[in-house]
Amino acid sequence: MDLLNVDSPRIQNFINGKYVDPVETASIKYTAVTTPHTGKVIAQCPISTSKDVEEADRVQFLIRFHHLLNAHIDELAELIILEHGKNKAEAIASIAKGAETVEYAMSLPQLIQGKLLDVSRGVTCHDTRVPLGVVASIVPFNFPIMVPMWTLPIAIATGNTLILKPSEKVPLTMTRVVGLLKEAGIPDGVVNIIHGTENAVNAIADHPDVKAVTFVGTSHVANLITERCHKLGKRVLALGGAKNHLVAAPDCNIETTSTDVVNSFTGCAGQRCMAASVLLIIGSHEELLNRIVSKASSLQPGSKPGEIGPVIDQQSLNKILGYIDVSEKAGAKILVDGRSWTQSRIEGFWIGPTVILHNNKEDKALHDEIFGPVLSIYQCSSKEEAIEIENNNPYGNAACIYTTTGATAEWFIARFSAGMCGVNIGVPVPREPFSFGGINRSKFGNFVDITGDGGVEFFTWRRKVTTRWGQENLDPKLRM
Ligand code: NAD
Repeated sequence: MDLLNVDSPRIQNFINGKYVDPVETASIKYTAVTTPHTGKVIAQCPISTSKDVEEADRVQFLIRFHHLLNAHIDELAELIILEHGKNKAEAIASIAKGAETVEYAMSLPQLIQGKLLDVSRGVTCHDTRVPLGVVASIVPFNFPIMVPMWTLPIAIATGNTLILKPSEKVPLTMTRVVGLLKEAGIPDGVVNIIHGTENAVNAIADHPDVKAVTFVGTSHVANLITERCHKLGKRVLALGGAKNHLVAAPDCNIETTSTDVVNSFTGCAGQRCMAASVLLIIGSHEELLNRIVSKASSLQPGSKPGEIGPVIDQQSLNKILGYIDVSEKAGAKILVDGRSWTQSRIEGFWIGPTVILHNNKEDKALHDEIFGPVLSIYQCSSKEEAIEIENNNPYGNAACIYTTTGATAEWFIARFSAGMCGVNIGVPVPREPFSFGGINRSKFGNFVDITGDGGVEFFTWRRKVTTRWGQENLDPKLRM
């Protein structure tokens, strides 16, 4: 498709408090932004170059911004529904979750006081937190506001200026949010947006003024960005992909477990880094299995609360369908088949909830990140087998145990290899001031977690000051 002939608005970068076209307009390229509901082009996102990164740069406020986020929640939710495909309840919840980090950042003046200690007679030590300067955040498509809010409020509240590179698949929402930042009175240049893809990201990481980079996206790119920043001696925190395991013990509460598992794997059409993707059932537990199948089969496509939205694009849909086809050919049973949604729709990127019962532990769908509304179930002979499967997975974002026994819960929590664990909680996302972050191939870089006190640590360095104010340092005339 010739994008330049498409009658859809061109998105601009946001630099020094103004919306601007990318530099070098003659050769600038644009990428199509589609709505996953129909696949139609809704905007053109510029592919910025290193020239645009040169233009970007600067610090804070936040209480008014928090108010504006809430006042515009319906408008922002509509943008998220349009460009991402979430249903209305999911879109609103994601904005509210983003606002939590803004609230945390609003409290930082009370929370980040340094230490002061008399270390010897007349000698004290104290430390203060110093901002890094210009920092950058590269974000994924799956949470157009929430993930940018993991870093933006903390970065600027600690005195940095931020360059944000939204996903080219969902550039509209943050382009509107920076308008709200401006309305809230943020000084020009404190938050800048550069749109684009790989080249813009590399130019940001390489720019000598950019002191630290956060990244959220697939593990492959997280690893690339981490290596690039490490070569340049920069701070980098790069969150990657996930394959999250939920375990159902024989004594789990069938009603809560089945509801939770289905909500976890179908919410946001499975496009959450904390979504359930593998359910390990200890024993056969036919009743739980039947309840999951019945709840997943009753879900409907759409944008209303409780309905399942489309996945982001054709490439994602093809990947998801591929995993289901391969599992079926390998002998797995497709207990709920979401491929019927794809077949019955003429436009858009739709796939319904899909439940696969595997009989082979080697099936690819049990190991790779699929990022769609697909649940792989495997029935384990023991709790040891379940923990072995979870531990052998290279990712390490979330894991959860469903049980009504404390000892079983403790046994699993002590052994899970994931960074964020739950007991009877399908999406165990920590709330501020706890930081967010997995381990293993779900997190790269040599830094703490994102958000909360991890975010403060990442966006500042500590200046340690030792002071001697004894009489000997006074002008002799002032000595007492
Ligand atoms: P992605 O890796 O394709 O893209 C993420 C960002 O990197 C985008 O801004 C994109 O423009 C940029 N990018 C893409 N290719 C690049 C390259 N070769 N070099 C430099 N930059 C590049 O990820 P996505 O598809 O947008 O997001 C989905 C992924 O994000 C999933 O794997 C999901 O698990 C992960 N995710 C992880 C977390 C977490 O906390 N661990 C949270 C949200 C999403």
